[in-house]
Amino acid sequence: MTIALARRYRPRRFADLVTQDHVAAALRGAVAKGRVGHGYLLAGPRGVGKTTAARILAMALNCENRAADGEPCGECSSCLKVWNGSADLDVVEIDAASNRGVDDARDLRERAMYAASQAGHHKVYIVDEAHMLTREAWNVLLKILEEPPPGVVFVFATTEPQKIANTAAPVMSRLQRFDFRRIGPAAIQQRLREVLKAEKLDAEDDALLVIARHADGGMRDALSVLDQCLSFGEGILTAARVRQALGLIDDEAYGELLSAVADRQPGAVFAVMTTVSDSGADLAEFAGGLAELLRAIVMSQYGAEPEGLPESTRRLIAGIAPRLAAEDAVRMLKLLGESEQGIRRSANPRIALETLLLRWAMLDRAVDLRAVLAGGVPLAAAPARPIPEQRAPAAQSPSPKPQTPSPKAKAGGLSDETLASVWPDIIATATRQSPMLGQALGQATATLVGPGTVALEFGPESALFQDGASRQQAAIETILGAALGSNVKVRVGGGSAAPSAPERKSKRLSAEEIRSERLDQLRTKDPALDAAVNALDLELVDDD
Ligand SMILES: [Zn+2]
Repeated sequence: MTIALARRYRPRRFADLVTQDHVAAALRGAVAKGRVGHGYLLAGPRGVGKTTAARILAMALNCENRAADGEPCGECSSCLKVWNGSADLDVVEIDAASNRGVDDARDLRERAMYAASQAGHHKVYIVDEAHMLTREAWNVLLKILEEPPPGVVFVFATTEPQKIANTAAPVMSRLQRFDFRRIGPAAIQQRLREVLKAEKLDAEDDALLVIARHADGGMRDALSVLDQCLSFGEGILTAARVRQALGLIDDEAYGELLSAVADRQPGAVFAVMTTVSDSGADLAEFAGGLAELLRAIVMSQYGAEPEGLPESTRRLIAGIAPRLAAEDAVRMLKLLGESEQGIRRSANPRIALETLLLRWAMLDRAVDLRAVLAGGVPLAAAPARPIPEQRAPAAQSPSPKPQTPSPKAKAGGLSDETLASVWPDIIATATRQSPMLGQALGQATATLVGPGTVALEFGPESALFQDGASRQQAAIETILGAALGSNVKVRVGGGSAAPSAPERKSKRLSAEEIRSERLDQLRTKDPALDAAVNALDLELVDDD
């Protein structure tokens, strides 16, 4: 391949400008109607077709066989000269980065004063990187834009229109501005496919997607990368070869890493990091890839379909998403955002990245929190992993007699705190069995009065419920035993022996109060959780 693909496949017609239909239609229409202006500003990211559009405009203006709709033929000697960028008296390209001064601008103005080489031809000046021009240079150009000689067209291309607005506001008002869009991965992929077909070459779809995503909206970059990848090997172009050529990490490393995080295996992080580091990958880019992946995982968890992902990445996401709570993925993204600068700037980015990944792997999980809130895990001994199997099964038929206490009941270390933390769920379970029983427990104050013994006290106003609870004692013991994971003896008391009603009331915790107290305890225990709750405005909800 002697000529670079990006050059060989540069569009020759307005219709070939990918994604910039709005610009193409306007310029083509202006040519067709003979209403081309004297000054244009083409703004947009690099590699999206600004200079190409300027050349097509120049071709169209001077084409020997222009179509009625304003399209240049692309084949006549005039068109070919412009397209090839050969020396041409009438179409001049200037790089403002190296011709930015006032003398350059004066020279340009003088040349623009001469008529075009042929009757009916236009003189077109294409100024690239126009934001590099100095204020003085703009002042010179302003004069010519205020009183343009007939047949002269200036086309300024820039990635930073704001800079021009700042240094040369009066010029801006004399220019017709067109904003170019980034080119989406699908459009880039399609164009690459066309180019490959013309070159009689083949590539995996995923390979083209990886290129398209890497090019980040720029067609020229995408074609350059395709060039680079094709020269990197033979045969069908695979995604693996593209990643290799670009020094990108493959999905496998991302998958291993996220699996380690999902499985809470901080130790596994080091092995993956060694692989990544040994491959010579840019760690900041690797972190960026992780961010994109996490974002896609969160999207898929909320039912949105992330677009433009290679099949291998989609498989990876499908594998990880169910193992990671959406809240956790969001928290991980937040931690990543906080560490990103550190990873970029650190003298030892690997340590910075490893620290982040370890924090991910050791993150207390939202799912644990739910388990704790649901009463499945005693607070004092909340383990790192969710243990749904400890969740209380709703007791269907209460056993008539308390069971013999098992050894683990003694070792259980039941505390008032634990009891308080599961109390709302005990009420919920009881309510499912019998609304009356649930109501009774809702009126009771539960306290631990001995090892494995819970006293339920009722105020005088709740005598009816106290009576009911006494008769349902065995059922209550079963529910408590299941919720606390140990056998529990229940003593129902209160009534007349109880202190005065107001005092009782103040002592009794409602389910709501217990819930918020539990949450406060959790947040005090885990500052990271506290920060996450504040930052993400998470609502921690019981599942009843
Ligand atoms: Zn032509």
